[in-house]
Amino acid sequence: MDMNCPSQAVTVSALKKALINEEFLLYYQPKVDLTSGKLIGAEALIRWDHPEYGIINPGEFIPMAEESGLIVSIGKWVLSNACRQLVEWENGMLESISISVNLSVRQLYQPDFLKMIRLIIDETGVNPEKLELEITESMMIDSEAACIILNELKNIGVYISLDDFGKGYSSLHYLKELPFDKIKIDQSFIQQCTRDLNDATLVKTMIVMAHQLNFQVVAEGVEKEDHVVFLQKNLCDEAQGYLFSPPVAADDFLNNLSKVNQILEIYGLPGSKSKNQWMEEEVRTARQEVLEMVREQQGMTFKYIKRYGRFIHTLCDGELLYRMGLTPERVVGRELDEFLPKKIAEDKVIHYEKAWQGTEQVNYEAEVNGIHYIASLRPLTRRGQVVEVIGSCVDITERKEIEEALRRNEEKYRFITENISDLIKVVNVEGVIEYASPSHQEVLGYGADMYKGEQIFDYIHPDDAELVRNEFKHLVASKEIRRAVYRHKHSDGYWVQMEAKGTPVLDDAEKITHAVVVARDVAGVS
Ligand code: C2E
Ligand code: CA
Ligand code: CA
Repeated sequence: MDMNCPSQAVTVSALKKALINEEFLLYYQPKVDLTSGKLIGAEALIRWDHPEYGIINPGEFIPMAEESGLIVSIGKWVLSNACRQLVEWENGMLESISISVNLSVRQLYQPDFLKMIRLIIDETGVNPEKLELEITESMMIDSEAACIILNELKNIGVYISLDDFGKGYSSLHYLKELPFDKIKIDQSFIQQCTRDLNDATLVKTMIVMAHQLNFQVVAEGVEKEDHVVFLQKNLCDEAQGYLFSPPVAADDFLNNLSKVNQILEIYGLPGSKSKNQWMEEEVRTARQEVLEMVREQQGMTFKYIKRYGRFIHTLCDGELLYRMGLTPERVVGRELDEFLPKKIAEDKVIHYEKAWQGTEQVNYEAEVNGIHYIASLRPLTRRGQVVEVIGSCVDITERKEIEEALRRNEEKYRFITENISDLIKVVNVEGVIEYASPSHQEVLGYGADMYKGEQIFDYIHPDDAELVRNEFKHLVASKEIRRAVYRHKHSDGYWVQMEAKGTPVLDDAEKITHAVVVARDVAGVS
């Protein structure tokens, strides 16, 4: 940034003028593939070439452009110029690369945003698969609206990256609902990743988890040679940063090309390093990650090998092991039937054998001493031979217990209600139906499953709804039995006159958890 740029230079009217006078320009920063070492893309970064103050960086004027809404026009200009540049490069000497463009939140939610993207693709003739849009987590605030727009973008065929990942708060698991192709790890994590153990673990974990969710990973702010080696060892896909090149004008970008393509050869893991060695390193890293992650999940990790037709455990550790009433000493060096009941051991040997075939990961559910868990067995091969299998287990006892309780409850309700023509519903305190008796089918036309998860008030005549709502509110507040007469909708469209009684269900602490509503058709009774 030009240190002489006074803040009063950045005004809305100056920005407007800059747009008209074409004072904006784009710099480009290379993105490099960490496996091949070759340039695979460029990120377009805007600059303002001010007639008086020279080059001004985006940090100085983007905030005001966003605030004033000018970002919409500026963003459009960036997009079409970046696309035009890519097409020009493709027609020239350059191999096929992609172009990344930063979006701002104002742009994304512009009503004609998608139309604008399509238009620019048409006008410039850019291949949409070579266009990558970078957005940040903070733009996902309205995640439902964002999801719709992003899916439309995917339909157009463009790539979507999540920029500055790690700076925000959302977990990757939330992000997996959104159609991202890549995440870009924020440069603040990369800067210290070879010196700060915390940052190193964070970066490793981000890469492993992102890959598990099928995102590609880009590292930003790669400045040093040891950053590159660290990222390569941890299987990061792409890198970007001053080590390769700062953002530069389009001409310089072309002139730098051969230099950029050599950086990894000079500083990265030696390309001559035998493929075998490289693979072993990869396996070692992956193994380490699995161990760390399983330990974090309070699960269990074990390994076994096959010797003379027997599966011998070579490692076993994790909290889950102790909860099963076992210890590493009882497992390591032994076969399954030396520490498990014969029947259980026999079942497991089948899975062990299957994993040892080496063609696939084997998953199974099992129980030992009342602990339910999911296990997955991953064969590790060297030169086409399985040399050992890593198993990892996660405790699912709690989930099992909940499932079992639910099943028992359902059975209980079904038993009580099967043979009566009264309509019985079990609803929670929000009025959501958790159970409806089979008799609903006969009396109201809809099958009982239809009601599950619905609001109890939804099927009531609009003129009666208010009354029923009030009675229900009263029931919840006072924990007393309440009655109501109302009209209920039949699946054929007419209304059935009903009389209902609601009874609160209390837990041990006298807190209301549910209400049981028993209703009967009183049309013929009056
Ligand atoms: P960003 O998208 O995270 O871009 C990366 C920033 O990091 C760039 O700053 C780049 O020059 C800088 N950088 C790249 N490599 C290194 C490195 O190795 N070390 C360090 N310390 N920094 C590195 P720049 O160009 O000043 O852009 C700043 C921000 O302005 C961008 O952050 C982006 O959020 C925004 N921006 C830039 N161009 C546009 C645009 O066209 N539209 C919108 N909406 N925002 C833009
Ligand atoms: Ca960016
Ligand atoms: Ca970034």
